[in-house]
Formats: sequence, C-alpha cells, structure tokens
Amino acid sequence: MHILFRQNFRHNMTISISIPLFLFLLITLTSLTTNTDAFSTSPKSCECVTFRMDDIQDFFLNDVQMAVMDTFLDNNASLTLGIIGAHFGEDDTLVKYISDNLLQVNANTTDSQPAILQIANHGWEHEDFTEYNMSNQSSLIKRANERISFILGVTPVIFIPPFNMLNNDTFSSLIENRVPYVSANVTTDPPSIYSEKSYQNRTSDSLYHFPSSGNTGDLSTSNDYWEGREHQQVLSDIELSLNNYGFAVVTLHPMEYSQREDLNYSNSVDLHQLSELKKLINGIRELGLKIVTIPEIKSYMNVST
Ligand SMILES: [Zn+2]
Repeated sequence: MHILFRQNFRHNMTISISIPLFLFLLITLTSLTTNTDAFSTSPKSCECVTFRMDDIQDFFLNDVQMAVMDTFLDNNASLTLGIIGAHFGEDDTLVKYISDNLLQVNANTTDSQPAILQIANHGWEHEDFTEYNMSNQSSLIKRANERISFILGVTPVIFIPPFNMLNNDTFSSLIENRVPYVSANVTTDPPSIYSEKSYQNRTSDSLYHFPSSGNTGDLSTSNDYWEGREHQQVLSDIELSLNNYGFAVVTLHPMEYSQREDLNYSNSVDLHQLSELKKLINGIRELGLKIVTIPEIKSYMNVST
C-alpha cells in the first residue's frame, strides 16, 4: 500500500507539474520569438532618440550644415544645434537659414509630434572648460548664451561642452546660469542608472544629464581623417544605449557630411553620408522609436514601470 501510494502520488505530481511547465515553456518560447523579431530595449527606456549637431559656426561648411538640417526638417525630425557663441552671427546665409526655420518649424504645433530645432550652447570659443575655474566657466557660458540670444532671440537651455570635457565646476556654472540640460558623452559624464530619482522629483536647480553614446562619424583613431559611419552601425549603438541608459543621444558633425580628403573638408555635401542619415532616420522610425529633443527625453522615460 505504501509503495502504491507513493507511485500514485508521483504520478499525480507529474501531471500537476507538467501543465504549468508546459505553459511556462510556451510563454518563454513565445517571448523569445517576439524578442528576436523586434528591436529589444529595456522596458524603462524612452524608446526615443535625440540628435545633436555640434560645431555650428559661421563660414564653416555652411552648405553642408544646411543640407544636414534640411534632411531633418524634410523628414519632420527634431535636431539640436550646438552653436559656438563667439563664432556665430556674421554668416548671413547661415543665420538667416537658422532663424527662419526656428520661427517656421517651431511654430508648427498642429502635428502630433512636430519637428523642433533646438539651440544649444557649445562654448564661447570651443574651449576645454576643465581648464577654467568655476567663475570663468560661468562667464563663458553666460557670454555664449547672451550672444546666441542676441542673434537668434532664444536663450539656450542645453550645454554641449566642447570636446565633451566638463567637471563639477561646469555643473555649478550651469545651475548658476539656469541651463538645466547638459549633454557631454558617456565617457566623460557617465549616466547613473536611470531611475525615478534621476528623472523625476527634481528640484528647480537640478541638472539633467543626457550624454551622447553614439555618432554618425568621428575623427579616426589615428587622428588623420574624418570617417562617416553606416546607418546600421548607428542603429546598433542606439539599441545598446536604450538598453544601458534608457535613452540615446547621437552626435553629428558637419565634417562627416562634407566631401573630404583626410582632414581637408570642402563645402560640398557627401551624398553617400547624407543618404545614410536618411536611412538612419527611416530605420529609427521603422523600429517604432521617436525622434525627440534633449529636454523631451525625460517626459518619455517610462520610470514608473
Ligand atoms: Zn565641438
């Protein structure tokens, strides 16, 4: 009897375990199938991408700068322009292009997600801020903001440190100047793990750090030519960034969109690189990700789940 009982008991256990096990396997297999088909991001990610173009300045590849901006505007995609204060304001063509589009594009609020041109402070003379004390850093930020405001009528709320270099004095200077967003890169300003505390419950003098983790081109490691990257590579960086940090900021420079030889750039557009940019914008949208401005990132962070 005892043995029979044990046998029956085992038999019953096998049945009672195998139904939940089957369901578990079914669910696991289903979710694995879904994940391999889809672009995989953390559930807390903003599912959004921000683009910033650094080194906006007078008489430097201005046709190229405008062709890149056109690509964003034609595709109704937002872009942040990192302007070098002391080197901006005298190139009538560039200034007119940016101010006309600021007025037109930013006035378009009828679309559900209208493209926005956002203006950022990219230093006074593209200096390494870590070489200055706090008081000097603060006045450099102030001068650049005043100049940009005088030329374009908007005061930047974003600071992109030149060379992505910054320190604690930079943070204090930004708070002093009421510039609440800073975008260096993940190497020089590593993001803390995103959390409710990081993106909500902020006080008015808090800083939002949205460092860049990818780019569409860069100086080669040998420092002797400027290389452009293919859209698939950038999409992989975006996926990694959304998983690691919950957001993705991609940096562009006018240089990788110019026809160039080594470090000599011409004011003509590299059409291959520009078409890679279009493919990148399309690719992001095909994955269901939004293209937003730096200040918009925090409103898409899904921190409550
Ligand atoms: Zn720069």
